[in-house]
Formats: sequence, C-alpha cells, structure tokens
Amino acid sequence: MLKGIRSLSYIGAAVVVASSFFACQSGLGTKAAQGQEASVLDTVTPVILQDTSPIANGRLAKRLKDPIAVPVDTLNPISKDSIARYVKQERRRIRDSVRTELNKRPKHIYFTFDDGPLKGSAAIDSIAKSKNIKISVFLVGKHANMSKGLKRDFEKYNNNPLVECYNHSYTHANNRFVTFYSNPVSAYEDFEKNETDLALKHKIVRLPGRNIWIYDDVRRIDLQSGASTADMLYSNGYKVYGWDVEWKINGLTGTPVQSVQEVYSRLTNYMNNKTSMEANNVVLLMHDDMFQNKKGQQLLSSLIDSIQKNTDYKFEFIRDYPFRY
Ligand SMILES: [Zn+2]
Repeated sequence: MLKGIRSLSYIGAAVVVASSFFACQSGLGTKAAQGQEASVLDTVTPVILQDTSPIANGRLAKRLKDPIAVPVDTLNPISKDSIARYVKQERRRIRDSVRTELNKRPKHIYFTFDDGPLKGSAAIDSIAKSKNIKISVFLVGKHANMSKGLKRDFEKYNNNPLVECYNHSYTHANNRFVTFYSNPVSAYEDFEKNETDLALKHKIVRLPGRNIWIYDDVRRIDLQSGASTADMLYSNGYKVYGWDVEWKINGLTGTPVQSVQEVYSRLTNYMNNKTSMEANNVVLLMHDDMFQNKKGQQLLSSLIDSIQKNTDYKFEFIRDYPFRY
C-alpha cells in the first residue's frame, strides 16, 4: 500500500517538475501552474532519490523506459518543435538522474560462449574454475557428436557447477541461416532435438546467426528471418537471448580483433552509460573456438582479471538475467 502511494507521489512531482522546466525554457507557464508546483514540491520528496535499496524491484529500469509526459496548455498551444525539444531535454534529465541511482546498485556481467563443444571448450571450462566465475555456454549437439574428445568436453561443461548449458540448436543451421529460418517448424524441431540429445535442463536458447531477444516483456529482433522461429520458441516456453557486446579473436593464431583493453572499455561503457539491453546487465558474446590457442586463453584470463580487479561486477548465469533495479 505504502509503495503505491509513494510512487504515485513521485509521478506527481515528476510531472510538475517537468512543467516548471518547460515554463522556464519557453515562457509558457501560468501563475496557477506555478502555484500548484510550489505546494506539491513542498510535500513530496521524489522516491527515486530516497530509495537506495539494492533489491531488484524494477522501478528505476521502468523509469528509463517510461514515455515522457508532455504538459498541455490549451490557452497557449505549443509548437511541434517545442514539444520535441522538451521531450528530448526531459528524457536526458531523467536518464541522468536514473543513471546516478543505478550506479549505486549491483552490476551484473554475463560471459556467454557459443557453438561449443569445440576445440577451446576445455580451456574455457578450466578458466571458469580457476577464476571462480559463472559462465553460460550455448551448445550445438552436432558438435558434441563429432568426436569422443568433444563429447568429453561437453561432459566437463555439464559437470562443472560454474557452467550452465543452454540451447544453440542441434545443427547450427548448417550455417545457412536464411534457409534454416525459412521453415520455422523444422528450425523449432532442431532446437528440440538439441534439448533431448544434450539433456538440457533449461529452456533457454540463442539463435544461430541472429541477435534476437524475447523474454518477459521484451521482444527485439535484428533480422526478420528468424523472428517466426523465435516467436514459436517463446510461445512454447523458451526464452531467447542475444548479446550486447561481441569479442572476436582469431582462434588459430590467438590474435585478437579487439584487444582486451578495447573489449573491457566497451563493457564498462555499456555498464556506465546504461546502453545495454537492460541497465546494469551486460551480456558478452564469445565463441568457444576463439580459445584453442594459449595466446587466446591468456587474453580471456586477462579480461577476467581486469574486471575482477577494477570493477564490482558480479558474474552471472543467463538464467538469472536480468536484474532490474
Ligand atoms: Zn553460433
């Protein structure tokens, strides 16, 4: 009950603060509105500045996405340009204040590895253990059935409590993505086969060749080809996850396309600027075969070291995505 009243009061304050700001900028305010502003602001302290609870209740995240309320003055109609300017400034003001609050909350990072088991998986498995971090792997059943060695690498993942195994389809679309997604039913069945074959415990998928997100109240599609398959998966109880940042390393030579410093900066920028899919949550995509060479493995270790030394980010499983504050 209390919660409801507090957030209502805050909305009241926000709208009035907004109209006051608008009046200053464009000279359209009325005395009556200014009088009301004084009385409401006297009695209300915005909840957003008070509530420092680390509990993920989603209030700040929602504030970032809420539409901007535009004050209506019927006596002095406002030009479209003024409204657009007002909305832009108001959005920036809200983002800045929410960002300050979000920076006080816990931050979550997700290391995700696609296409395993492959050469490189065993190294990833031991690095997760030695650094004691949770990682998420999106697996391809066909690869696990290619050799005894790869089957063993899959078992390593499966038996490591710091690794969670998710679904990346059985065939990886044979790397012919448009053809694969042109038949959503057979594509769907390919994911089902993977789930059965690898005895996957979680209904969590990433689509090969697509950065598509469908979970909770979110649906974001990068390419239409793949959308029907993703929708079908979602309506059958799966959650579909993409990524915010991708890191590429040449697996054979260990030469990085982006240096550790570059990828570290991108991750921290997404975290600080709240530009990831979910504020305070950043998903990094890598591929297992990037880490078949010692040089590549050292780069992965060094990225993890940088994060552990310089930030307070928590390494999480995709199953727990997202933490909304
Ligand atoms: Zn893939």
